[in-house]
Amino acid sequence: MTVGGWRAAHVVEVVEATPSARILRLSVAGWPGSDAGQHIDIRLTAEDGYQAERSYSLGSYGPGESIELAVDEIPEGEVSPYLVRDVLPGDELEVKGPLGGYFVWRSGGAQPVQLIAGGSGIVPLVAIARAATDAGAAASVRLLYSVRAPENAIYRDEIQRLANDGGVAATWAYTRRGPAGWAGSVGRVDDDALRSAVWPAEDDPTFFVCGPTGFVEHVADALVRLGHSPARILTERFGGA
Ligand SMILES: Cc1cc2nc3c(=O)[nH]c(=O)nc-3n(C[C@H](O)[C@H](O)[C@H](O)COP(=O)(O)OP(=O)(O)OC[C@H]3O[C@@H](n4cnc5c(N)ncnc54)[C@H](O)[C@@H]3O)c2cc1C
Repeated sequence: MTVGGWRAAHVVEVVEATPSARILRLSVAGWPGSDAGQHIDIRLTAEDGYQAERSYSLGSYGPGESIELAVDEIPEGEVSPYLVRDVLPGDELEVKGPLGGYFVWRSGGAQPVQLIAGGSGIVPLVAIARAATDAGAAASVRLLYSVRAPENAIYRDEIQRLANDGGVAATWAYTRRGPAGWAGSVGRVDDDALRSAVWPAEDDPTFFVCGPTGFVEHVADALVRLGHSPARILTERFGGA
């Protein structure tokens, strides 16, 4: 049943993804399905009636009543520590959605797709990579994923699978420390890193850039500087400075 667009969501499974992030699998009766890249709102209600709402991207897409989220804990945050530390299978949350019609990938075009994620910004981009792989379009998809260190990568195994099975070309960037034997540079994604990892401007790629607000703005500015059309750069800002 939905009241004001809110539906009951049952937590089916929680999986440790990184030291600070968990994947949550929820079952939502009557869920209408979603396109790859969309998000939901989650509403929590305390015993005293206090409510808090936050948005979370869907790592899943398509029909069916199962949805998947991945939440990274923001220290001192109001909602994310609860979702990462306290939620257990059997718990009930309220969700509204699917939401967002702009940051969405739909099968059809043969145009190259460039996914660029910082931190938990990988979540909707995994949904897009999964959808493109299922549609046989993985070869047109490249992913650049920036994380602090290898252990902070959410969906590391899934990205490996999408690269091996589907052909999604994945490039990693590390802002603090690379894996053992890493010969690449370490630091903020810069123009050189973008130039070597992303589809060239002459291929007219569509960009999906997602992550903390500062990361998204930094990357979008750099892409324009490198000659990509702003109209082709779709962004999703998760918040923060
Ligand atoms: C469309 C959309 C989709 C999102 N999808 C995801 C997702 O898939 N996974 C996920 O983990 N988060 C996602 N977020 C972020 C999420 O909505 C919350 O903002 C985040 O979980 C922090 O909430 P909080 O209540 O713990 O922190 P708050 O109590 O809201 O904030 C605490 C402090 O942290 C800062 N802050 C808030 N958000 C961030 C951030 N993302 N990065 C850095 N600092 C921050 C605030 O400015 C504040 O100073 C998404 C946001 C949007 C708008």
